[in-house]
Amino acid sequence: MKSTPRETQLPYSCPPDPDAENWAAEFADKEKRVVRSQQVHTCTKSTCLCYNKHGKLVCKRRAPWELSSTKYIDEKGNWKPKRTHPYVNNYCPAISVALCCNNDIKLLTNGVDTKHASWYSTDYQTKKQNKNHNVSALIAKSLLYHEEHSDHLESVLEHNQLLIFCCQHSINHEMELSGQQVVAYLMGWGDRICSHHYVLLYWSIVKRCLLVTFPELWPKNSMYVF
Ligand SMILES: [Zn+2]
Repeated sequence: MKSTPRETQLPYSCPPDPDAENWAAEFADKEKRVVRSQQVHTCTKSTCLCYNKHGKLVCKRRAPWELSSTKYIDEKGNWKPKRTHPYVNNYCPAISVALCCNNDIKLLTNGVDTKHASWYSTDYQTKKQNKNHNVSALIAKSLLYHEEHSDHLESVLEHNQLLIFCCQHSINHEMELSGQQVVAYLMGWGDRICSHHYVLLYWSIVKRCLLVTFPELWPKNSMYVF
């Protein structure tokens, strides 16, 4: 592991050509490089290390993982993948080689696990809106920056426009967006999909028609005039 360098440009490369003669060898080589670069977990305080109830620093991903010389599943549903390195999590070679990214696969043997996995991945992919507790701090920071750096603007209108822009920018900057959402905006597809279309109904015309036909429907003491 130590003799293989970590590559940062791998995610931008193409997968090996399946029609190539030496595809199997290329696949094995790519898998090794992707695993080295993307799949080795490193615990850091800013990502996964947190204090447990005994005050001890532990990895919230539960690394290092237990080693196992073989993969197995027993009649109670307990299972374990083969693992020969304590900091490499479960991965699928086809996904690793095709996408060159970190992946974590899990065997789902019951409904509760499936529900948790579906919930987790949906939540993760759709990048739900974060809580707004940081927004005021971000805007305050923008305001201070704005006051110091926009003296060159002469008109109050320009000054205010820029302030709003800066505030919005600082909030957007901190927000995670999913790839699908960004593409939808860039393509002008909007951010929602309707299963059906609405038709405008000009109710006032219908109401007027009804009142002309049935004058007794006019509300008593009505000041309403069409
Ligand atoms: Zn960790």
